[in-house]
Amino acid sequence: MSSLVAAARSFLLLEIIKGLGLTLKYLFKPKATLNYPYEKGFISPRFRGEHALRRYPNGEERCITCKLCEAICPAQAITIESEPRPDGSRRTTRYDIDMTKCIYCGFCQEACPVDAIVEGPNFEFATETREELYYDKEKLLSNGDRWETEIARNLAADARYR
Ligand code: SF4
Ligand code: SF4
Repeated sequence: MSSLVAAARSFLLLEIIKGLGLTLKYLFKPKATLNYPYEKGFISPRFRGEHALRRYPNGEERCITCKLCEAICPAQAITIESEPRPDGSRRTTRYDIDMTKCIYCGFCQEACPVDAIVEGPNFEFATETREELYYDKEKLLSNGDRWETEIARNLAADARYR
């Protein structure tokens, strides 16, 4: 009997019709997939992506060379050198992050008293060589300039929990 049923199902193409029905059912439903990289999903304001050094609105660097980020970094990925400016303020002459060592723990961002070093929302920074992941101050500041709007928005969104 069961072989007769199987033969009938096969003859009437029932499995194919069932499959087509399933396709039809999902054809008009909202898509579950994204057309990456043209479409991107939601990213939390707390997402810890590529590092950036921020400036104040007048263009001055935020970093005051306290070196708390360098001290707290568990991967010892941050190297800072500094010297006083003619006006008496201290600013970095060197701010390097070895991104191949970084574990994206966010401690540097947490330690910074002036929100200078942050982990921004950018996650698309894959490289072809290790050398490209040795970030210097210029690279970090340019990241800050590029992502400032998103970083400021994320920090504001998370401010009440900090
Ligand atoms: S995220 Fe963590 S590991 Fe990476 S630089 Fe900051 S403190 Fe170091
Ligand atoms: S980035 Fe922040 S924590 Fe690091 S040296 Fe500058 S001011 Fe201090």
